[in-house]
Amino acid sequence: MTYLNINATTEEVLNKDGYVLGNFKQHHCYHCDETFRARKSAAADDGNVVHRRCLDGYAEALREARRIATRISDEAKMVAQRARHESTIEQRGTDMAAFASFDNRAAGDPDSDLRKDWNFFHAANRALERADETLAKFAARLTSDPSHAFEWGMDAIAASADKKVFGQIAYYFERGLSVEEIKDLTDKEVYRGARSPARSTSPISNLMEQEIVSAHVRATGRPY
Ligand SMILES: [Zn+2]
Repeated sequence: MTYLNINATTEEVLNKDGYVLGNFKQHHCYHCDETFRARKSAAADDGNVVHRRCLDGYAEALREARRIATRISDEAKMVAQRARHESTIEQRGTDMAAFASFDNRAAGDPDSDLRKDWNFFHAANRALERADETLAKFAARLTSDPSHAFEWGMDAIAASADKKVFGQIAYYFERGLSVEEIKDLTDKEVYRGARSPARSTSPISNLMEQEIVSAHVRATGRPY
């Protein structure tokens, strides 16, 4: 004779040919595994039958099990993300400037993902190069004619903001982040800058903050 548990609350008794001889309610608590006395049982959230006195303990155990399942799934997502970043690094390398200096046509089909990535990183790299040129000119003027240099100081502030924002993109490139992931991070920065605008007592600090938000908007590469 074989006992087959068909669900949490019912057992079937089968003969050797698999013929059902009868079934009866499961008589052990799902939580503590002791037998039920009289009718002191209750169904938990997930349908399993437990003692009334075990209901709270079982509910807590269930929540803990779900917490652990969530953590395991979060960890699995992180492992998958890391693997994706590593394979991106294998494809692109870690040097954004080197990737951007490839001939555009080498990326092939203009609608291919690699070509779109190339367009994004090429623009970021150009912004970094222009920022370096502007800052070099500013540094030279600062030595030769300081007061005149500051008359053109806005350019240097914008270039400093570009250097910070597009330098961050070069770092994301190095870590293997996709263009989509980078745009998500950049969008968050734009949102943060708009939500808490610069209100420092230092005018230069406010200008710098504004230029950083503006650079983040340009970094998203969106046409509006
Ligand atoms: Zn129990």
